[in-house]
Parts: sequence; structure tokens; C-alpha cells
Amino acid sequence: MENPFGEATCRQLAGLLLTRYDREGRDLPWRRTRDPYRIWLAEIMLQQTGVKTVLPYYAGFLERFPTIQALAEGELEEVLSLWQGLGYYRRARHLHATARHVVRELGGRFPDTCEAMGRLPGIGPSTAGAILAIAFGQHQAILDGNVKRVLARVLALAMPPDTTVGKRTLWEQARRLTPRERPGDYAQAIMDLGATVCTLRQPLCPSCPWQGYCAAQREGCPEAYPVRLAQAPKPRKYQFQALVTRPDGRVLLLPKRDATLLGGLWHPPGDEPGLSAVPPEAEAVRRHLAEGLGIQVATPCPLDAVAHTFTHFHLTVFPFLCPWRAGEPPEASGGRWIDWRQDRRTPLATLHRKVLARLSESPATPALEA
Ligand code: SF4
Repeated sequence: MENPFGEATCRQLAGLLLTRYDREGRDLPWRRTRDPYRIWLAEIMLQQTGVKTVLPYYAGFLERFPTIQALAEGELEEVLSLWQGLGYYRRARHLHATARHVVRELGGRFPDTCEAMGRLPGIGPSTAGAILAIAFGQHQAILDGNVKRVLARVLALAMPPDTTVGKRTLWEQARRLTPRERPGDYAQAIMDLGATVCTLRQPLCPSCPWQGYCAAQREGCPEAYPVRLAQAPKPRKYQFQALVTRPDGRVLLLPKRDATLLGGLWHPPGDEPGLSAVPPEAEAVRRHLAEGLGIQVATPCPLDAVAHTFTHFHLTVFPFLCPWRAGEPPEASGGRWIDWRQDRRTPLATLHRKVLARLSESPATPALEA
């Protein structure tokens, strides 16, 4: 694609955006600082998550971990427990790993080049660009989801932004449009534009400072951009989970030790997600607990299934209420009896909170808990 805008027009576009930002930019806590730690934290939290959701998590996280040193000294389990409900838990694991690396290997200072920054866990080129532009005032472009959408519309980009050519074109235009003066404010301004004006649905073109330059708007169909890749339907997977309850209401939970999906979080025992849509027999659940964990339970009672969607698949969980009779989980399993309603320290994913909530929804539970 040829460059649609000359240098003078790029300067004009940046100026229009900065004027809007000075007038209407949102006052957000991470915009009141140049501290790379605080800016990095916000950028990681804002990946795949909206500002409104992030605000309380950001405040809570900084209260507990006000500096990168404090975060590096903290335990991953505590980081994950503060992250509960924010989703995409890999971000939290990367955050913790990066903090330890920066403190232990780099003397507590973030690197100040794109290459070095991009080598840190969880920091891609756009996040690196944002931190360097905002915290260090460097002339660096960003290309997060919001910016991709804005630029794909302004250019009426004919291909999906995540194809090789689409990505290359958008990065090139993002770099050309980023001004040498105030690159950090420009980064914030274009993210603001994508989040509040050039929204996924019903963009507010009459309020947009780039209206007169936008090819999609000229075509009269901004929502047709970005062009989407044909998506294969997500597969559906199934698993069972055993809610082993003690008479005092505590439930057996196990830590997920690998770094895959929901790694570092806690979950009820069960099998791995698979393709069989048929829930197991109660006897198979009882045997699974006895043979795998040495736990004896009364006859498992099926509860209502729980549906959840991850990025790459839909999952249906078949929960079973399993009143404990005897046995303790082996030490190697790391299993703990947890009062999950009161406990705030054990990190649980939203999926497992939904599964555990079946205990209070089920008419079978009170009789068995009594
Ligand atoms: S004119 Fe409309 S479609 Fe174009 S960038 Fe602005 S809000 Fe987005």
C-alpha cells in the first residue's frame, strides 16, 4: 500500500489528535506518572481488558505492590489472588517473572530500548513502544487492538490487520503518524480515540478529529473495518470436577502447577478437558478420587453443568458434589481444604468460582452439609 498521507498531513493528523486529547483526554491514574513500573503495570492490565474493569485492580495492586522491588519480593500466589477476575492469568505470571528479572538482573531499572524491553516476558512490540513513549518520552509507535481498528478504518485497509501484510502496513503507518514531539501523549491520545470514539460498534465519526481524513468514513461503512479473517468455530470440550466437601463446608482444591491455561491458580480435582460430551458415572468419579488422591467420598451427586468460554475453546464442566468420608490428599498434590467463600488468598479463576457456586445453588448441598 502506498503511503496515503504525506509528512505534512501526518503532522496535521497528530496535531488534531493531540488537541482533542488536551481538551477531552480521560484523567486516568497511570497518566499522572512517568514511573515505568506504574505505566508497565497499566499497559499489561489493559491488554484485553477495558479501562473501567482495570481501575480497581490497578489501585489494589499498587497498594500491595507499590514498587517493582515489592512485586519481585512477593509470591506468585499473592499476585494471582490480586488478579482474580481480571482473566488472562498468563499476564500475571509474566508480570511477576518480569519484576524478578528486572530487580535481580537489571538492578531494578527497566531497559530503555525496544529490543531489550521486548525480551521481557509478556511485553510485545506495542507494549514496549507504549512504555518507552510514555515513560521515557521516546519516539516509538504503538499498535494495540484499539489502534489497529482506528488505522484500519482511516486507511480502509483491505486485508485483516493480523495478516503479515496487514500488520506490516499498519506498523508502517503507525510509525509515520507518531510525532517526534509528545510521542507519549500521542500514544495515549490514539488509545483514547479507539476506546471512546472509534469504537468497535457505532463509531462516533461526527466527534472524531480525523473525520475529514478517514477513508472508511468516506465510504460510509466504518464498521466494515477492520476486515476480519474467516474464523474456524471454537471446539467444545468437557470435563468433570469433584467438589469434595467436609462437614464444615471446606472444599478440596489443588494447585495447577504447570504454566499452561490457568497455571498457578487452584481448582477442584477432576479430569483434563476432553471431547466426550457424556458426564462420567458417579462410580467413576468416586474411583478417580480414591485412586488418584486417596480420598474416600459418599456417592457423588451430579450438579448442574457450568459453561465457560476461553479464547480457543468452549468448556462444559460437570460438577459432582462429593461428601468427604475419609483420607487426606498426598503432600505431593499440594491439595488444601479451603473455605472458598471466605478465603481471599487462594487464587481461583472465574470458571472455578462458578463451579463452586453450584454448591450453594444445589438443593442437595444443605442436607449433605448439615
Ligand atoms: S472517522 Fe469514524 S471510522 Fe474514521 S477514525 Fe474517526 S471514528 Fe473511526
